[in-house]
Amino acid sequence: MKDYNCKNQCTWCDGCGNYGILTAIKRALIELGLAPHQVLICFDVGCHGNMSDTLVGYRFHGLHGRVISLSAGAALANPDVPVIAFGGDGACFSEGVGHLVHAIRSNYNMTFILHNNGNYGLTTGQASSLTPRGEKMDMAPLGTVEEPLNSMDFVFSLNPSFVARGFNGNISQLTNILKSAIYHQGFSYVDVLQACPTYNKFVSHEYLLEKCYECEPMNFETARKAAVDTSEKIATGVLYQDKTRPTFLDQLEARKGIDSRLVDEVKKVDVSALLAKFS
Ligand code: SF4
Repeated sequence: MKDYNCKNQCTWCDGCGNYGILTAIKRALIELGLAPHQVLICFDVGCHGNMSDTLVGYRFHGLHGRVISLSAGAALANPDVPVIAFGGDGACFSEGVGHLVHAIRSNYNMTFILHNNGNYGLTTGQASSLTPRGEKMDMAPLGTVEEPLNSMDFVFSLNPSFVARGFNGNISQLTNILKSAIYHQGFSYVDVLQACPTYNKFVSHEYLLEKCYECEPMNFETARKAAVDTSEKIATGVLYQDKTRPTFLDQLEARKGIDSRLVDEVKKVDVSALLAKFS
């Protein structure tokens, strides 16, 4: 674990669910035999993004809502390096949602881990598109008036190749989920229910421990039903996986029979003549 530990101090609130997710990702990487120099870890903007200060490795902290697109680019450029992207529900289900749509349907070979805490924690508790209607938030003290997006129904509507759900209170299960997600060839969507005791008063650690139960992978329709219906209990585990689906890169005719990587094919081009023409 020490290989992945950074000496920077964690700035998360006491009791934040991010601590459990940080432990699980470190364990997953170690159990997969991946050293910090063998993996690319990308972060969106949000409380979870502060993990980029506390986890050793090749790290890229991108713009708000853009972590999936930058990670997909890296995964296409060098498929030899596993790419893991972390994002929050605030960024990835608002301005970043278009990137999520196309990453799922393209089946880029990368792992996306959603820190689903039901609000914008970093900017002090505004409602996200996953906050339940009527919840009293900092910027909506009388209760939110908008219908929440059903993230699991949305993801399943895009015909994903891998969908999992975990929560920060079961680190051993989450470690196994993350290992399966990183190992999967294609776009792995991992929804991690994360307690935010500072701003989210409707999903506590106790609530998650009581509601979550473990499942085995299911067929598409059963998994979708189990993932969407959280009224009584919340299904967790690798819910659905299609191991036969080719990745985006595997399907490109133009790349067939080519052994080099895009990252090796970048060349310096002299544009001075072009610049001179228009100067
Ligand atoms: Fe964690 Fe919430 Fe504090 Fe952010 S605001 S560090 S998500 S507890």
